[in-house]
Amino acid sequence: MRGAPSLAFYCDFDGTIAQQDMIGAIVRHFLPETGQAIVDKVTAGEWSVRQGVEAMFAEIPSHLLPQIQAFARQETRVRPGFAEFVATCRQRGWRLTVVSGGFDFFVHPALKPYQDVVSVYCNRLDDAGPYLRVVWSVPCDEACDGGCGLCKPTVIRRTRRPGERVVVIGDGVTDLKQAQLADFVFARDKLLQACRSLGLRHAAFETFYDIIGHLTTDLVWKE
Ligand SMILES: [Zn+2]
Repeated sequence: MRGAPSLAFYCDFDGTIAQQDMIGAIVRHFLPETGQAIVDKVTAGEWSVRQGVEAMFAEIPSHLLPQIQAFARQETRVRPGFAEFVATCRQRGWRLTVVSGGFDFFVHPALKPYQDVVSVYCNRLDDAGPYLRVVWSVPCDEACDGGCGLCKPTVIRRTRRPGERVVVIGDGVTDLKQAQLADFVFARDKLLQACRSLGLRHAAFETFYDIIGHLTTDLVWKE
């Protein structure tokens, strides 16, 4: 890896660093009646991710927020190898940015041990009104076609530095727009299928040990 360019990782949280999709788990637990219908509309492409997530939380009364926070913290499990992956980034001087469509109350506690090296973008829930309201930290910029909620490609465009190779790590369709801006993608689940069908440069992963393994080969570095 001598003389190789520096890497900048942009990593998803739900289903990537966290084993499961926390927003999905929250909705199944707190909105079992109507949540699935909204998920189906988003999956079918009738609604954007932004519309769907906003609609789901707009049905949850604000007084439930402390219960949601406790539930999410208790359910968050970090994927094996993440601590070692962060250590590798720290040793090599690679930048690691976590870009999450999820919320501060489960993303920040999980990443607290790494806050000295990891930049974090995520969202919050406003409980000032009778029902919860999603506050997106980074809305879509003019270069995006919109509807993201937290816009992952906007984060990349704002923060990437000249000469860096951008590596995206993710699992879902919400990672696809940022994957299309990347020099290389580590993918699982639906993002993996999308990378295959679109011919994006990628490798499959299940744990962060898989990613560390790939980084010691030249796969990621080839022009
Ligand atoms: Zn966007």
